[in-house]
Amino acid sequence: MIHDQLNRVLRDVRISVTDRCNFRCTYCMPAEVFGESFQFLSHFDILSFEEITRLTHVLVKLGVVKVRLTGGEPLVRKDIEQLTAMLAQVGGVDDLTMTTNAYLLPQKAQALKDAGLRRITVSLDSLDDAVFRRLNGNRAGVQQVLEGIAAAEQAGFSPIKINAVVQRGVNDHTIVDLARWAKERGHIMRFIEFMDVGNLNGWRMEHVVPAREIAQRIHAVLPLEPTERSYRGEVAMRFRYQDGGGEIGIIASVTQPFCGDCTRLRLSAEGKLYTCLFGTEGVDLREPLRAGASDAELEQIIVNTWTRRTDRYSEDRTALTDDAHTRRKVEMYHIGG
Ligand code: SF4
Repeated sequence: MIHDQLNRVLRDVRISVTDRCNFRCTYCMPAEVFGESFQFLSHFDILSFEEITRLTHVLVKLGVVKVRLTGGEPLVRKDIEQLTAMLAQVGGVDDLTMTTNAYLLPQKAQALKDAGLRRITVSLDSLDDAVFRRLNGNRAGVQQVLEGIAAAEQAGFSPIKINAVVQRGVNDHTIVDLARWAKERGHIMRFIEFMDVGNLNGWRMEHVVPAREIAQRIHAVLPLEPTERSYRGEVAMRFRYQDGGGEIGIIASVTQPFCGDCTRLRLSAEGKLYTCLFGTEGVDLREPLRAGASDAELEQIIVNTWTRRTDRYSEDRTALTDDAHTRRKVEMYHIGG
């Protein structure tokens, strides 16, 4: 196991398998910026399945046990189930999971399950179709996502986690409906405080609905009680329903940051390592990889990157106010949330 400067071990890697997406969510990939003529990475630019698998072997040797596949939208990467099968064969990966907008799950869910994917998290910011369409650039309706979730259930994924980014004045009036819907179906809702990820979503503190308020709103209708995190480093604060009807999670990166336990490394689609969601510079692995570097050399680059890590942006956000506005952060679609 390797430790960073704040004594945090490397345990999880989020692998972005593409910078492309079939949605245009306003807080990540606004349509006005990512239009028809936007130049995404070419097939040559992005890591191949073999390169991703090789790097995963090296990362597991350094303590990684959990691999999350992200994007952009991972399901738009052609033959993603093949990569899933390759990663499922990597010894030491105890948890292979994916975050998706579920739009392509009707076609892919069974193949992903058969390939060895263990869990699925679906992004769904509202059940109100008009609100949802406004949030995803009018690329899909709620019904299509619900069909994707149904396909994942059919394929045997359970429980399914549902992520919703809560923005004041945008979708916060629909969070109780989401909680009730998920509770009735045994899904685990995870509400996410709106974050200043990247540089394009016009984030301001007044757009944030604090975790405490989210919990209070739901508790008023569906009584909750706090419960323990299931492991050190789990991002969500957990609450269970007092009637025993399941649980929800709230990811409070803004009002109750959890950097002290952050064990996550991110690998972008073009092979750069980022040590924080709000990072600025990535460490390139693709060039040494394609220049014939040995596993030991790749390992050394990862060790140097992690052991020098001091990131705790969410804890420093307020102190970093000035820098926060000038800091050119990596865009979330590039490293997958
Ligand atoms: S802000 Fe950075 S260091 Fe803090 S929890 Fe998020 S990714 Fe980890």
